Amino acid sequence: MKNILTGDRPTGRLHIGHYVGSLKRRVELQNKAEYDHFFIEIADAQALTDNYDNPKKIRENVMEVALDYLACGIDPSKVTIFIQSEIPALCELTFYYMNLVSLARLERNPTVKEELKLRKFEGGSIPTGFLTYPISQAADITGFDATIIPVGEDQLPMIEQTREIVRSFNHIYGATLVEPKAILPKNESCQRLPGTDGLAKMSKSLGNCIYLADEPETIRQKVMGMYTDPNHLRIEDPGQVEGNTVFTYLDAFCKEEDFVNYLPEYKNLDELKEHYRRGGLGDVKLKKFLNEILQAKLKPIRERRKELEAHIEDVYAVLKEGTIAANQYCDMVLKRVKEAMGIDYFTNDALLKVQQEKGQ
Ligand code: ATP
Ligand code: MG
Repeated sequence: MKNILTGDRPTGRLHIGHYVGSLKRRVELQNKAEYDHFFIEIADAQALTDNYDNPKKIRENVMEVALDYLACGIDPSKVTIFIQSEIPALCELTFYYMNLVSLARLERNPTVKEELKLRKFEGGSIPTGFLTYPISQAADITGFDATIIPVGEDQLPMIEQTREIVRSFNHIYGATLVEPKAILPKNESCQRLPGTDGLAKMSKSLGNCIYLADEPETIRQKVMGMYTDPNHLRIEDPGQVEGNTVFTYLDAFCKEEDFVNYLPEYKNLDELKEHYRRGGLGDVKLKKFLNEILQAKLKPIRERRKELEAHIEDVYAVLKEGTIAANQYCDMVLKRVKEAMGIDYFTNDALLKVQQEKGQ
C-alpha cells in the first residue's frame, strides 16, 4: 500500500516556506507518483493546542489554507482535503497511543523544545495538549495508513515519534499499523526556509513570512527589507553568502532562465555568489533580482486564489466532501486498531462467549 498524508496548521495563510518545503512536492506527487490514497489535513485541532484562546483565528484560517492549496494547484479530484477536528476517530487513536509514549520522550522532542522557546506560554505553563501533539500527529499519520509524508525538515522528529509508536503498537498488539517515511525537498535550502528576518525558520507564528497571497507591493517591500550580511556595508566590501537569507531564497527559487530574463550579465547563481564574495555587488541589485523571481512565481498563484475566492462555496464543498471520505477511511483504521487491542466488544460476541464459557 502507498498512501500519502501531509497537512498544515491553520494558524495563518500559507507562505513561500510551505511552498518550497511541501506544497510544490505535493503537486508533483499528485500528478506523477503512484499512490492509493492522498490525504491533506488541515490540522485545526493541533493548531488549537497553542491557540486555544483564539479559536476564531483558527476557524478563519481553515478556509484561507484551503484556498492556498487549490491556488497552488492541489487537485481535489486526486487529493482528499479534510479538517482534522471533524474526524473523531483521530481522538480515539491518540488516546490509545498515549499509553505507548513516556512523558520524558515527549519532553525530548527537538521540534517541541524549539517551539516551546518561541511560543512562550503564559506563566510558563505548557498545555498538556501542546506537549502531546506529536502523539496526535501520529494518529493523523497512522489513521490514514500513510507511508509517505512530504514535509519540511522540522517535521522529522514527529515522523520518528510516529514510527516508534507504530513499532511499539505492532509489538504489543500484533501487526496493525504501517510505518511512515518522510520525504524532504531535495534542495537543502527548501527544507527549512528562513524568515525574511534571517531567523532560522519562516513561520506563520513569527510574522517573518512572505505569504502566497501577498500583493506585489507587499512582496517588494518584504524583499527589500530582508536580512543579508550585516557586515556588507559598502558595495565594494566582500560579502558573505552563507547564512545570507537573500542567497538562501535564491538557492530555493532561482532557475538559470531567471538570469536570462532578469539579470543577463550573470550566467548562473555560482557566478553571482562569486561576485558577491569578491565584493562589488550591492544588496539592492540582489534583492531586485529576487523580487522579480518571486513576483513571477507568486502572480499566477495569487490570481488563481482570487478566482477561487469568488466561488468560495465550491471550496467549502471540497472540504465537506473530503472530510466525509476521510472519516470513512479513518473509521476503518480505528476498527482495525480496536480489534487488535481486543476492545471491540460489540463487533462480535467474543466478550459474551468468554463469560458464558466461564459459567459452564
Ligand atoms: P506555525 O508557526 O503555526 O507552526 P508553520 O509556518 O510552521 O506554522 P506548519 O503548518 O506548522 O507551518 O507546517 C506545515 C508544513 O510546512 C510542514 O510540513 C512544515 O515542515 C512545512 N514548513 C513550514 N514552514 C517551513 C519553512 N520555513 N521551510 C520549509 N518547510 C516549512
Ligand atoms: Mg509549524
